Amino acid sequence: MAKKPPTELQPWQTAPQATLTPLVSDPSQQQAVLILARQGTGHPVAIGQIGHAITARAIQVMLDYNASACAVRYMIDGQWEPGPELTRELGDAMLLTLKQLCQLNPADRRSAQNGKCQAKLGKDKYVMTLKSQGTAQGERVLIRMDPEKIPFQRLEDLGMRDTMIEQFREALNSENSCVLVGSPRGAGLTATWIVTLNAADRLIRDFQSVELEDEPELEVINVNANFYGGSTGLNASQLLHKMILKEPDVFVLPSIPDEASWVTALEQAAEKEKQVIARYPANTAIEACARIVAQYPKGAKHFAATVKAVLNQRLVRRLCEDCKQGFQPTPQLLQKLGIPAGRVTTLYQQFVMPPIEQQVDAKGKPAPIPPCAKCQARGYLGRLGIFELFKPGPKFRAALLKTTDLAELNKIAQAEGHRGLQSEAILAVARGLTTLDEIKRAFAKPSA
Ligand SMILES: [Zn+2]
Repeated sequence: MAKKPPTELQPWQTAPQATLTPLVSDPSQQQAVLILARQGTGHPVAIGQIGHAITARAIQVMLDYNASACAVRYMIDGQWEPGPELTRELGDAMLLTLKQLCQLNPADRRSAQNGKCQAKLGKDKYVMTLKSQGTAQGERVLIRMDPEKIPFQRLEDLGMRDTMIEQFREALNSENSCVLVGSPRGAGLTATWIVTLNAADRLIRDFQSVELEDEPELEVINVNANFYGGSTGLNASQLLHKMILKEPDVFVLPSIPDEASWVTALEQAAEKEKQVIARYPANTAIEACARIVAQYPKGAKHFAATVKAVLNQRLVRRLCEDCKQGFQPTPQLLQKLGIPAGRVTTLYQQFVMPPIEQQVDAKGKPAPIPPCAKCQARGYLGRLGIFELFKPGPKFRAALLKTTDLAELNKIAQAEGHRGLQSEAILAVARGLTTLDEIKRAFAKPSA
């Protein structure tokens, strides 16, 4: 390949520039950090590079420094892909600026460091977390962009189908009940959790959440936070007993603190017409039930009696509507997927750019195919939640007190009409929202 002409502009030079601001409460100190950072030669690289990453919809950026270069990778829709490479010199200058803005020590390229600043592009604001660590080759830096506003606001935005939304809302707005929300760790559980709370009737009932003082949750309007640990001098159980005096309707548990408080909260649901909504990481809804009973045996009886709904979720990439390719599935494929014959005539797969030598017109002349402008030839755009909503029946509740064997519990749930994550995933393929390839990828590596 010909060497790039030296005048060609780098992505950080052409991308819209982000605004990076140190998170310092004292305005004059903040100004001082900002002035120092803006004087550096790395500042234009930093704001261009972060602007490029945000424009590319990257939620994480990985920088790997070796002797000669700084390799850049972007995490987009849950996948790492190569970003624009920087020379070592530019990469170093950029990192110096970024470390200044995150109030880290730019001179230290070996120790583990961790800091934050704010990034802004247009109206969108992010909390940018920078973690760095020296490596044998140089240094590795991970930059995470957390939007200040969770982009998903409603269950339908996450891709939940209408009938399921209705059933989930009904469970969320019930009493004498417990609702669990889960997914494997790091698979979009925070977004699903916030959207779940937003879907509940927080205006009619009193929602009180139990949170660790050092790890407060994102704020949800009309969910009152109550803290334990840290400077409060309270453990979770003591906090719960204090909260009970105020007779809230719903106990919100972003994580289950310990067995004693779990039992106390469930007692309120079982005996006082209250509700418990808890977040609990797991690979499937049935696994969540089995694990929670095994982990907190003293709460088993009340849990089996009150568990009304268990939501579980997987994130998959959503097919790009502009370039997705339809194909006629063979009867064998439909049978394998368990889709009744005649129900679905077209399935979709992602557009894959053919090799350049095959991009020819009818006469065999080269005719390069322009990449899809909407998804930049990725074939996918954004993500989609695959949801399973499990509503335990009487046989399952009874079984939960006798066994935590997953195969057996799965069989009972199926017999009581439960549709698992896998068949929900196939439904999403049949609806043309994602592909079989993507489903295989998402389900290949359970990670909870
Ligand atoms: Zn496309």
